[in-house]
Amino acid sequence: MIERTLVLIKPDGVERALIGQIITRFENAGLKIVGMKMKWVDKEFSRKHYAAHVDKPFYKSLEAFIISGPVVAMVLEGIDAVEIVRKMVGPTEPKAAQPGTIRGDYAHHSYGYADKKGIAIKNLIHATGTKEEAKQEIALWFSKEELHSYATVHEKHTL
Ligand code: ATP
Ligand code: MG
Repeated sequence: MIERTLVLIKPDGVERALIGQIITRFENAGLKIVGMKMKWVDKEFSRKHYAAHVDKPFYKSLEAFIISGPVVAMVLEGIDAVEIVRKMVGPTEPKAAQPGTIRGDYAHHSYGYADKKGIAIKNLIHATGTKEEAKQEIALWFSKEELHSYATVHEKHTL
């Protein structure tokens, strides 16, 4: 089914000037960008976005990471987009991520190093985990007016 999913290029990806290369990966796979913005997240917004992680031991470092600089948020549309995007992004730990995934190709941070330093694991991307989360996360980051249908954005230019 055609789905929408939320992707963030986290502060490490923006800082390292990887925005274009990361977006290109998703576009090359045929996923369509139907909404996009740059935003500097604050603590309150971080607690909303990472509501599921607020009570976890790594939350403080995760919050420090996500508010450390602007992020690029986008909504991608495509067939089974939630699953496809997670596959392209790869597992949470870049050290374990296979080459060919975004985390595996552009990062190498490890849990061991992050724990020792007391910092969040720097893994470039947030990608929604499930279809249910996609609805909530997209509603948190984008208003209806900020999202454009696939047909509006793309088909009129290619037909
Ligand atoms: P995301 O939700 O950002 O797409 P994910 O679903 O792969 O990543 P989650 O388990 O949801 O991973 O964790 C959210 C984020 O918190 C991770 O992407 C990572 O930046 C950070 N994180 C998770 N576990 C740890 C940990 N044990 N130590 C340090 N940072 C962590
Ligand atoms: Mg997650």
